[in-house]
Amino acid sequence: MSSIRKSSLAILNYYKSLGIESHIQNKPRVRFKNHFYAENQEKLLENKLKKLKKKIINLDCELKIKAKNFVFYDGFLKSDIMIIGEAPGYEEDKLGKPFVGAAGKKLDQMINAIGLDRKKNTYITNIIPWRPPNNRPPTENEINFFLPYVEEHISIIKPKILLLFGNVASKSLLKLKDGITKNHGKWFNYNNSFLKKKIFTTCIFHPSYLLRSPHKKKFAWEDLKKVKEKITNLQIET
Ligand code: URA
Repeated sequence: MSSIRKSSLAILNYYKSLGIESHIQNKPRVRFKNHFYAENQEKLLENKLKKLKKKIINLDCELKIKAKNFVFYDGFLKSDIMIIGEAPGYEEDKLGKPFVGAAGKKLDQMINAIGLDRKKNTYITNIIPWRPPNNRPPTENEINFFLPYVEEHISIIKPKILLLFGNVASKSLLKLKDGITKNHGKWFNYNNSFLKKKIFTTCIFHPSYLLRSPHKKKFAWEDLKKVKEKITNLQIET
């Protein structure tokens, strides 16, 4: 039985339990508006993402030739929280999903600590969708080449909060002169030409960096606590 039929039956049984046997009104009432809205919204997002994926996959780009897989996104589509990292590594390239290797496990630990979860309430992507050979840092040209597509990606998800992990995502999207060491934990009003509304945005140390420099974890934890506070203040459901 479909979930709508099940819900309809549950409502009818509830009315019956109250002793109500008949109900007449002039116009039909749409009882499952929210349900239909949620389903449609998800389909709409899927279609927009499919179109964006097609655009990026068709780009003429060296990285594409050397990588195994296109790494686009992971997580919950209707998220209010969007995470942007740098570029896929070996594991991500193998599986075609962002943040699934050691850095991904660390990222999950970090976000889970403040109630975020890629299966339930968080959407994850990278600036660069193909693994740079031997995990070398992406070049300035590569970053600038993909930036308009990342901007469009953000406008599709329209998060309420944007979390930029590491220097590449922070500097490129926020056009920062200084790096993450000076800017982590600060709040910015992010905007781009695809967006109608600014997005609360902050920068956090990249999980790969924290794996290499564990003494910096305390700073990341302070920054994550600020994110939790913002989630609470904006009354975002997690
Ligand atoms: N580092 C990133 O920035 N992104 C990934 O997907 C994996 C590691």
